[in-house]
Amino acid sequence: MLDEQLNYAPCGYLSLSDEGTIRTINQTLLTLLGFDLDELYGKHVNIILTAPSKSFYQLYFFPIIKFHEHVEEMYLTFKSKNNKDIPVLLSATRKKRDGEIVNDCVLFQIKKRYEYEQSLLAVKKETEERNRIKREQIAELDLLRRELESKQKELLEVNEQLEKLATTDGLTGLKNRRSFQEDLASNISLFASNSQPLSLLLLDIDHFKKINDNYGHLTGDRVLQGLGLILKEELREEDVAARYGGEEFALILPNTDQSDAQYIAESIRLRVASAGWTDQTVTISIGVATIVKGDTISTLQSRADQALYASKNGGRNQVTLALHLAINS
Ligand code: GH3
Ligand code: MG
Ligand code: MG
Repeated sequence: MLDEQLNYAPCGYLSLSDEGTIRTINQTLLTLLGFDLDELYGKHVNIILTAPSKSFYQLYFFPIIKFHEHVEEMYLTFKSKNNKDIPVLLSATRKKRDGEIVNDCVLFQIKKRYEYEQSLLAVKKETEERNRIKREQIAELDLLRRELESKQKELLEVNEQLEKLATTDGLTGLKNRRSFQEDLASNISLFASNSQPLSLLLLDIDHFKKINDNYGHLTGDRVLQGLGLILKEELREEDVAARYGGEEFALILPNTDQSDAQYIAESIRLRVASAGWTDQTVTISIGVATIVKGDTISTLQSRADQALYASKNGGRNQVTLALHLAINS
């Protein structure tokens, strides 16, 4: 008979024979399992073990305790009278008492530990969920940032297109008159500081009205476009070609003196005159003015204009240098 203290100790106590017969069991364990003493006393321990624990008992508990004479902190699952699983932590020692080998076991229910594990798992799950939400928010922000960047890029492109539209002639793709005036102004200012030569050419299509009248406005437009292409091909990177008016064009040639400007003007004139314009011939008249000290936009432009006028008067399809005119500026 167990003494009072062991019978009601705050842990289960169980004593087993080598055959697995229950020799002693305290009240604490009986209460935990829901059995009366006479229901378990002398019975095989299997009666209070779950199926997996029965195997575990045979395969591990018994061989270990036989060999080492003690077992420490082994997890087993007991089975109560009403078939409820009761996980326990068990330690045991093996000794000889009253001429018989006994295996004394103490065990604690590990319900609490499960609860702790559950709450730890819950916290872990919550943290993972929070991290997942955070990652989603970061991804969302990243998406927004990328959308913003692409919108900004689009805006820059639209601005660039608008800028191009504002400075370009729609029909020929050359610079328009406003942009030409700005370029001429900055080239003239540059001349004031570096004295590099600068020439201005004004071009006008000869008898263009007749082309329109004879072949139609659309053909007229194609001639304007064709001339635009020729100018683009003939000019260098630093030159500026603009549509100055209806069928008038202007060229700014930086770093180009009088004779170079004349050479370029002649080659453009010849190229236009000999180009295959389907069934009509197209010629142009050109006026050339090269900058001199004290020139402004209007004096330079006016000299080029007078030279162009002289080319027209001289019979068209020709180049005139402002230098050769009696009146300058
Ligand atoms: P000139 O040799 O004296 O320069 O004679 P012209 O016929 O070329 O000159 P004029 O100034 O009498 O006529 C210019 C014509 O250019 C009149 C106008 O209808 C035409 N024109 C102006 N802009 C355009 C355009 O964008 N497209 C077309 N097809 N014709 C245009
Ligand atoms: Mg004209
Ligand atoms: Mg004309």
